[in-house]
Amino acid sequence: MPTTEDQIRQTLVQYFQTDQLLGLKEVPIRLPQPRATAPHATGMAQTTRETQTAAEVGGKSERLRLLDEKQVKTCTKCALSQTRTNTVFGQGNPDARLVFVGEAPGFYEDRQGVVFVGRAGELLTRMIVAMGLTREQVYICNVLKCRPPNNRDPAPNEIAACSPYLFEQLSVIEPEVIVALGAPAAKTLLQTTQSIGRLRGQFHNFHCSGVEGVGPATPLMPTYHPAYLLRNQAQKAKVWSDLQAVMRQIGLPLPK
Ligand code: SF4
Repeated sequence: MPTTEDQIRQTLVQYFQTDQLLGLKEVPIRLPQPRATAPHATGMAQTTRETQTAAEVGGKSERLRLLDEKQVKTCTKCALSQTRTNTVFGQGNPDARLVFVGEAPGFYEDRQGVVFVGRAGELLTRMIVAMGLTREQVYICNVLKCRPPNNRDPAPNEIAACSPYLFEQLSVIEPEVIVALGAPAAKTLLQTTQSIGRLRGQFHNFHCSGVEGVGPATPLMPTYHPAYLLRNQAQKAKVWSDLQAVMRQIGLPLPK
């Protein structure tokens, strides 16, 4: 079993690059604790945003906290408020250069109130580690903040009601790159009906304004959702290719 961070990363890179099937419990990865406090800027973010003051970073953290505490946790804008156990706002570095956006909380996320902690969450964590990062250095959230019953697809009215929270999160964090995990996230953020199979593999322009061409654009890479990847391991090479494009975009060293 790999023990050092380098060994763990190398094992994960091999997993994504080859036909090797890796049992999810074979590589020790630290998962977040329930309701963990989002850490302030560390590591990668600190090295490249040296001009940003601690007050500014703290400001982002506070704005996200207020959005969560004052609006999302008490939200009843759609029927999912009737069936949720917890809202699931998001987790990570408020000053992250890279944000991952998924679809909606699942069973474990709903129970714990923490984003991406089930099997798909474990795989996402491994994808992040394979990129040479940690969950604490990026930010992770979903389109919906409440779980759809039986993990069904988000309904259009639920996306319409909830996506303003996501757009607000992204406008606060101002990431350099966004990764949309799966079709609902990609279609919501890009305001398109194209399939994830056609969208993935290239960068698209995301506008926080929600309107093409209005306001600054952020490069957005659509790729397959980790839950889909768990069922379709043959697609992992495509996901790894997408993640490497993201690494190049933000200047992260590619593994040998
Ligand atoms: S899914 Fe979003 S819009 Fe619906 S109740 Fe939850 S927080 Fe509100």
